[in-house]
Amino acid sequence: MRLELQDVSARYGAVVALDRISVVVPSGTTAAIIGANGAGKSTLLGTITGLVPLAGGRILVDGADLAGLPTEQRVRGGIALSPEGRRLFPEMTVGENLLSGAYARRDRRAVAADLERVFALFPRLLERRGNLGRNLSGGEQQMCAIGRALMAAPRLLLLDEPSLGLAPAVVVDMARAIRAIAATGVTVVLVEQNARLALALAETGHVLEAGRLVRSAPARDLADDPEVQRAYLGEL
Ligand code: ATP
Repeated sequence: MRLELQDVSARYGAVVALDRISVVVPSGTTAAIIGANGAGKSTLLGTITGLVPLAGGRILVDGADLAGLPTEQRVRGGIALSPEGRRLFPEMTVGENLLSGAYARRDRRAVAADLERVFALFPRLLERRGNLGRNLSGGEQQMCAIGRALMAAPRLLLLDEPSLGLAPAVVVDMARAIRAIAATGVTVVLVEQNARLALALAETGHVLEAGRLVRSAPARDLADDPEVQRAYLGEL
């Protein structure tokens, strides 16, 4: 699914959270959105899911304007979000949490096949299938949140900070899983404070600063850029 943001603006009261952002994510590619805390990254994903209203601009998927479509219809249309902070159902099991992602789907066979695919991607979730959401480790919660988003059979997957709070070894597993998901042809928008990881996984990178898009470039060019290295990659 091709995603295009045209001059997208968003505000919270008087606070301008996004100021005329234009980004194109070609179908089947991964885009990294990097930026400091509060730069507007989560808000950007919110405008795509419909959770944050637009103050201006347009969002097109495969050329169709999303204006006026409620979140549920966007999910049915193939857009899924794995939110920051996981937001699992704490009193539901891993299996129930995963299946909740497929609530809009009727084809039980396809849902069962996707569940197997999620377990193949994250074998830990199969081991923890009967455990309650609240008893999962941070890494397991994150895997479960991504798995739940995948259960919607998305063509556009929005990942908000998938590496946040994970131990380094778990980040490696997470990176492998995101690569495997992208390799299936799903378009991925990856929001990360871990810019190094995001740029390693993406074809293109977009840098947000205080609600403004300040750079869009091939991810490799951004990773090699001294200014980006200084500001976002923790290098001197
Ligand atoms: P983080 O990584 O901390 O989530 P972010 O880059 O995702 O940062 P956003 O969460 O999109 O940034 O926030 C962008 C701006 O909008 C910030 O100034 C933030 O304080 C403000 N903001 C976000 N959500 C709300 C809200 N619900 N009400 C008011 N202001 C908000």
